[in-house]
Amino acid sequence: MTTIVMVGSGVVGMCSAMLLARDGHQITVLERDPALPPADAAAAWADWERRSVAQFRNGHLFLSRFREELSRELPEVVTALEDFGALRINTLDGLPESFTGPVLPEDRRFDVLTARRPVCEAALARVADQTAGLTIRRGVAVSGLVLADGSEHSVPRVTGVRTEEGEEVMADLVIDAGGRRSPFQRWLTEAGAAVTEDVDDLGFVYYGRHFASEDGSVPAAHGGGLTHYGSVSILSLAADNGTWSLILVASAKDKAMRALTDTTTWTNVMRQFPLTAHWLDGEPLSDKMEVMAGIADIRRHLVIDGKPAVEGVVAIGDASSATNPSVGRGASIGLLQAIALRDTLAATGSDDLHALAIAFHDACEERVSPYVQDTVVFDRTRLDIIESAMNGVDYVNDDPGYLLGQALANGVGRHPDLLRGYLEVANLLARGADVLSRPGMAELAIEHGAAAPPPGPGRHDLLELLGTS
Ligand SMILES: Cc1cc2nc3c(=O)[nH]c(=O)nc-3n(C[C@H](O)[C@H](O)[C@H](O)COP(=O)(O)OP(=O)(O)OC[C@H]3O[C@@H](n4cnc5c(N)ncnc54)[C@H](O)[C@@H]3O)c2cc1C
Repeated sequence: MTTIVMVGSGVVGMCSAMLLARDGHQITVLERDPALPPADAAAAWADWERRSVAQFRNGHLFLSRFREELSRELPEVVTALEDFGALRINTLDGLPESFTGPVLPEDRRFDVLTARRPVCEAALARVADQTAGLTIRRGVAVSGLVLADGSEHSVPRVTGVRTEEGEEVMADLVIDAGGRRSPFQRWLTEAGAAVTEDVDDLGFVYYGRHFASEDGSVPAAHGGGLTHYGSVSILSLAADNGTWSLILVASAKDKAMRALTDTTTWTNVMRQFPLTAHWLDGEPLSDKMEVMAGIADIRRHLVIDGKPAVEGVVAIGDASSATNPSVGRGASIGLLQAIALRDTLAATGSDDLHALAIAFHDACEERVSPYVQDTVVFDRTRLDIIESAMNGVDYVNDDPGYLLGQALANGVGRHPDLLRGYLEVANLLARGADVLSRPGMAELAIEHGAAAPPPGPGRHDLLELLGTS
C-alpha cells in the first residue's frame, strides 16, 4: 500500500484517484476549489463554481476509448454519468446504410459519452466521494513542495506538499493532477530539478454557445462533430438533458475572428454553414459568448534521457500533456496515463522511487505518448492549414503520412472500411499509422481519397460577414 497525495480533482485526477484507491492505496486529493459537487445536472450547470478550471462551462466529449476503458475499469462511473443524463451516441447510427454498409456487432465500440463538463464532473465526484481509501479535501490550495534533505539524493526528492494554510501533507508519492496550468514545473525547477517542458506557442480560439431544446431532443448530426472549413472549424457537440454546444474554432492569430465575441455576428456567421445551421435553433443557455483562448499544446517531462530529474512525484492528465481540445482527446489520454500509473505501482511498488519514475515513464512512452505525438502533429498541421487559408494560398504538404491521413478522412463517405478506420483514429481506438498499415487500407484510401470541401462560406465571404473585408 502506497500513501499518495494528489493535487487536483479534475476529470483525470478523479479517475486516477479512484483507480489507485481501488488498488489498495491510501490517497488524499487536495482540491483548491471549495464547492461541493451538486447532486443533479441542472444544479451542476447553474450553480457549481469551479474557478480554477477555465474550460468548466463547456461541453465535454468522452471518446470511445475513454468510455471503453472506463467501462472496464470503473463501470459505476459510466452508470453515474448516464444517471446524470450523459448522452451515449454513435456516429454510425445517424448515417445511411450507403455510407456504413451492414451494421456490425462491433460497431458499438464507437459509442461515445457526452455531457456538459459540470455534469460530467458532478457524476464522477459522486462515485469518487464514496470510494473507500480516497479522501477529497476541497478548498485546500497547494502552494509548494516538501523536499527530502538534498544531500542524500542525486536529484530532488519530493516527500509531500505544503498547503496555503501552511499544513504539510506527507506521502510516499505525490501526483500532480493540477491541469494545464499546474505550478509543479515552476516549483520543481526552483527545487533544482532539471525538468523540461515543450510548449507549442500556437493556439486555437473557441467561440461557442450552449443551447437547450424544449423537448429534450438534440439536433440531427449531418456528418462528424468537427468539420474543417479552410481557416475555421465548426464543432457541434450534443450533450446531456437536451443540451448542446456549437463552437467555431479559429487560430489565435486570426484577429478578424475577434468580431465573433458579439452574439449577433457569431449567429450570422454560424447560419452560413448548412451542415450545422440548424444547431442554432434552440434556447441559448446564456446571453453571452463563451470564448476560450490561450490553449497551447504542452508536454512536461520529469524523466529526461531515461533518467528521472526528480523522484517522489509523477504528473498525469493535462499537467503532463495538454493537447488541442477540439479533437476531444484530453480526458482519454489522461485516463490512459492514469491506468499506466496504477499498473506501474502494482508492478514496481513505491519503495524504490527511482525505479518507479523510470517504469512509469516507460509505460507512458509505450502506451500513451504515440497518441500525444499524433495529436501534436495534427494540431500543428491544422494551424498551418488555417494560416494558408488566412493568407489565401493553397496548403501544400508532401509528407506521405499526411497525404494518407487526408485520404482516409476524405474517404469516410465513400467506403465503410474507411469510415470505420477513420472512427477508430478519431476515437483513439487506434493510430492512423496502424489503421493505414492494415492490408489494402492505404490503397483503398488512395482510391477514394479525393473529396469536395464541405459546403460553407470561403475566407472572403467570412471576412465580409465579420465586416472586415
Ligand atoms: C475548452 C476546452 C474543451 C475541452 N473539451 C474536451 C473534450 O470534449 N473531451 C476531452 O477529452 N477533453 C477536453 N478538454 C481537455 C480536458 O478538459 C482535459 O484534458 C482534462 O480536464 C484534464 O483533466 P485533469 O484532471 O488533468 O485537469 P483539470 O480538469 O484541469 O483539473 C485540474 C484541477 O487541479 C486543481 N488545482 C490546480 N492547481 C491546484 C493547486 N495548487 N492546489 C489545489 N488544486 C489545484 C484545479 O482546481 C482543478 O480542479 C477540453 C479542454 C478545454 C480547454
